Amino acid sequence: MLVETRHDQATVVVDPPGSERKRVVIIGGGFAGIAAAHALRHSDAEVLLIDRRNHHIFQPLLYQVAAAVLSPAEIAAPIRQLEAKQQNVSVLLAEVTGVDLASRTIAAASPGAGVRKITFDYLVVATGMHPSYFGHDEFARHAPGLKSLNDAETIRAKILGAFELAVTTEDEDERARQMTFVLVGAGPTGVELAASLAQMVQVTLRGNFRRIDPAKSTIILLDASKRVLPTFAESVSRKVARRLEKLGVKVLTGVKVETVDDKGVIAGGNRIPSATVLWTAGVAASPVPKMLGTKTDRAGRALVDPFLKVVDAPGVFVVGDAASVMQNGHPVPGVAQAAIQEGQYVGRLIANEMKGREVKRPFRYFDKGNMAVVGKNYAVLERGRLRTSGFLTWLVWAFVHILSLPQLQNRLRVQRQWLWSYFTGQRSSRLIPEPLRPLTG
Ligand SMILES: Cc1cc2nc3c(=O)[nH]c(=O)nc-3n(C[C@H](O)[C@H](O)[C@H](O)COP(=O)(O)OP(=O)(O)OC[C@H]3O[C@@H](n4cnc5c(N)ncnc54)[C@H](O)[C@@H]3O)c2cc1C
Repeated sequence: MLVETRHDQATVVVDPPGSERKRVVIIGGGFAGIAAAHALRHSDAEVLLIDRRNHHIFQPLLYQVAAAVLSPAEIAAPIRQLEAKQQNVSVLLAEVTGVDLASRTIAAASPGAGVRKITFDYLVVATGMHPSYFGHDEFARHAPGLKSLNDAETIRAKILGAFELAVTTEDEDERARQMTFVLVGAGPTGVELAASLAQMVQVTLRGNFRRIDPAKSTIILLDASKRVLPTFAESVSRKVARRLEKLGVKVLTGVKVETVDDKGVIAGGNRIPSATVLWTAGVAASPVPKMLGTKTDRAGRALVDPFLKVVDAPGVFVVGDAASVMQNGHPVPGVAQAAIQEGQYVGRLIANEMKGREVKRPFRYFDKGNMAVVGKNYAVLERGRLRTSGFLTWLVWAFVHILSLPQLQNRLRVQRQWLWSYFTGQRSSRLIPEPLRPLTG
């Protein structure tokens, strides 16, 4: 139980007098934060999970919301339901704006309730990443990234809106600009979104417009690195690039984007007119790791020790995408599995420490493999030396993702939507929230 006392503008939250229970504050209700809370379920801790949004997002399927296959509610779940599931967890909707390690407090701003100071015995930072424009934040205005449900809906509206605007113009060049889609960044998100978009223009939108043929759209996937999916093996990248070309996506690698503006992009010295530029490139850590005053890497991730602890800050941990963890000389990748395993590890470590047991085994990441989907029926999988691709791999991908969704209700809904779109080619989430952008925008 939290006790609150008014203090000027801020609400100060203090431990109840005489409380014996240790308080574990977890910042972030993503994969890592939720796994940490769950691992503390049998402990005697009072767990406070704080997130600035009220829902957990299953990010691997965000691109399907952007591509109108799924609706936002199908890939998200309210974090608050943890209170019903786990006796020792409380959930707070607030944005953490400060951390004071000396007084062992964090400052959290709740909508309409001011800033609260919350004390902790243990602190787990699991605040993830956000899109990074590599020092060109001005690109964000014209090229939305894909990280939240809002982002996915913005992208969906941009894509569908472009076709509506292409229909209304009499200017051929403008029509071509509206029907040109540029994705900057050929990692898994860029590849998956480009392939899904290709399928949308060729199948879903077929026959929907009398004045234009959506299949004549141009989809360009750009990347400064030499190949698509640079974190996968070269042979996988080559296969995926061929598959994308077959789907009608133009792959331009080794090309750096210099400008993104309201007319399109300038890349490798050439202007590509486009009304829809999507940012699927870099990511940077949330500002919270920096608030710990510890060392961070170039992307702002906290450098933690092999136990995921912040050096010289007892009881303070960073997990998931916000942490920079090395294993066998390589960084642990910023993927959901790593975040879950780190969250579980830290939750168990804290539970053990509270029982007076010292944990001697450092964190070890167990790599279950990387997957990416390239349109309907086709996925690639890389696990150690194992590489597979094709329809069966796609079935495995679909099975794993359905099982991993946060709620049974979502699993059933997503399964139904996929079957529907698999057999009909249709997508049921094709709404454009008002207002539609003007042609020049
Ligand atoms: C589009 C996309 C596709 C992806 N596809 C895959 C995939 O196919 N496979 C895969 O394994 N991984 C994939 N990933 C990566 C995977 O989603 C991340 O590695 C994983 O989400 C990291 O988990 P996390 O808990 O560290 O962070 P997140 O899941 O990002 O959660 C962080 C949480 O912290 C909260 N937060 C942040 N700052 C504050 C603050 N100041 N105060 C309060 N709350 C805060 C956020 O609201 C969020 O809920 C994808 C990521 C994206 C964006």
